[in-house]
Order: sequence, then C-alpha cells, then structure tokens
Amino acid sequence: MVQIAMTIAGSDNSGGAGIQADIKTFQELGVFGTSALTAVTAQNTQGVHAIQSIDPEIIAAQIEAIFTDFPVHAVKTGMLFSSEIIQVVAEQLKNKEIPLVIDPVMIAKGGASLLREEAIEALKKELLPIATVVTPNIPEAEVLTGLQIQNNADIEKAAKHILALGAKSVVIKGGHRVDVPDAEDLFMSAAGEKFYVRTPWIDTKDTHGTGCTYAAALTAFLAEGKKQADAVISAKNFIHAAIENGLDIGSGHGPTNHWA
Ligand code: PLP
Repeated sequence: MVQIAMTIAGSDNSGGAGIQADIKTFQELGVFGTSALTAVTAQNTQGVHAIQSIDPEIIAAQIEAIFTDFPVHAVKTGMLFSSEIIQVVAEQLKNKEIPLVIDPVMIAKGGASLLREEAIEALKKELLPIATVVTPNIPEAEVLTGLQIQNNADIEKAAKHILALGAKSVVIKGGHRVDVPDAEDLFMSAAGEKFYVRTPWIDTKDTHGTGCTYAAALTAFLAEGKKQADAVISAKNFIHAAIENGLDIGSGHGPTNHWA
C-alpha cells in the first residue's frame, strides 16, 4: 500500500520552498503527497514580494477533506502565518494518532516574515505540545525559547526547553552556526535520545527551500514507518544531497534540488 503524507503550508510559486518543495520531496521519496494551502506568496529567487493568507475555514475544510477520505500516515506544517490559522490547524490535528512534524517557519532568507509575531505564542501553546518532531533552525530556536544560542551547551539547553513545551522530539538545525566546521544538527527526544548528525558544509548560495525540504523528507520517512531518530538521519542525508546538487537558476538564491 502506498504511504500518504500531508503538508499544511504556504505556496512558493518559484517552486523551491513551501508546499511545492514538500510535494516534490514526498514524490521523490515514494510517498503520495497531499496538501492544505495556508497562504499564497508571490516570490522568486530574489525574495517574497506579496503574501495572501487563506481563510482559516477553507484551511480546515482542506484538512478535513483529506482526513475523511485517506489514511494519512504523517503530516507536516510549514508556513502558518497567523494565530487564527495555527488554532484551526491545531484543532484539526490534535486527536490524530500519526506523526506530526512542525517546521516553525518564521522568516524567509530574504527577510520576509512568514509568521506574524502575534502567532508565536499560539505556535508554542497549540502546536508544539502535539508535535512528534519540531525542526527549528538556530534563529527559530532562539525565538521559541528566548535563549541566545552560541555553542553546543546553548543548543542542548534550547532543545530541552522545546521538549518541556510538550514536543516528543526536536531537531535543532545548525546551518546558521559559524563555530563548527560542519552542518551539525542536534536531535533530542523526550524518551532520552540525544545525538548530533553532521554532514560536510557546502559553500553555495543555492539553498532556497532547505528547511522545507528537510522537514518534508523527515515527514516522508516517518510516513514510511521509520522511528524518529532514523528518520532524522535519513532526512539529513537527503538534504545534504539536495544542497550539494542545488540548482543555479534565477538571479538570487537558487533552489535546493528535490530530486537529488
Ligand atoms: N516561502 C514559503 C512558502 C516557505 O514556507 C518558506 C520557508 O519555509 C520560504 C518561502 C523561505 O524559504 P528559504 O528561507 O529557504 O528561502
């Protein structure tokens, strides 16, 4: 039987990030992709030019339409934009006994805000407690915890803080770090697992959509039945290959390659 994954996220019409990245990644990993669109963005490799969020009722209807018809095996959330949207998504997902990956998307590389500041508390209160894995980068982990992160001790403190908010596990992605030579991510779970997963640093500007692609790969591996820690390692290898084969298209940050 085919495994089914769902992404609840914003559209990136340039095809590198957002719902498009998620569905391409699901397809590449052999999982059937479904979606609920939370926002439409107008963007290209130079940045995000406009955002229109979707009516929360329509978001709920999209999620319901899939869940009442398909056996969904794993879900991920990406750009959620507002506290109203977060509330509707949390309400829809709270009693589902399937893996839930929360990618706490906040700010695009070009600086555009994909999550209103007023929505941060809702994200912490409504969604993190039902998350199977939360996947912040360092700036997102700092916002979620109020901590300043400079080294491994800080990262581990932040991970514990995120687990204390109710998530089953967390991956803090180290792509923004300058104190270590590799791309080094920390996995920590409420069950007591803790390890760093490292891949060599790749010096490239073509990294648009790395966060979405990483979380989508993780969701696909969880949909296939992998345990959280194994799914993180597989997703890390996938994103390394996707960045290594990044596409130099457009005049700005080219996209991560989803069929790497
Ligand atoms: N657009 C959408 C809809 C996204 O969800 C994201 C990231 O999550 C981005 C753009 C930004 O991608 P990046 O910061 O990798 O350029």
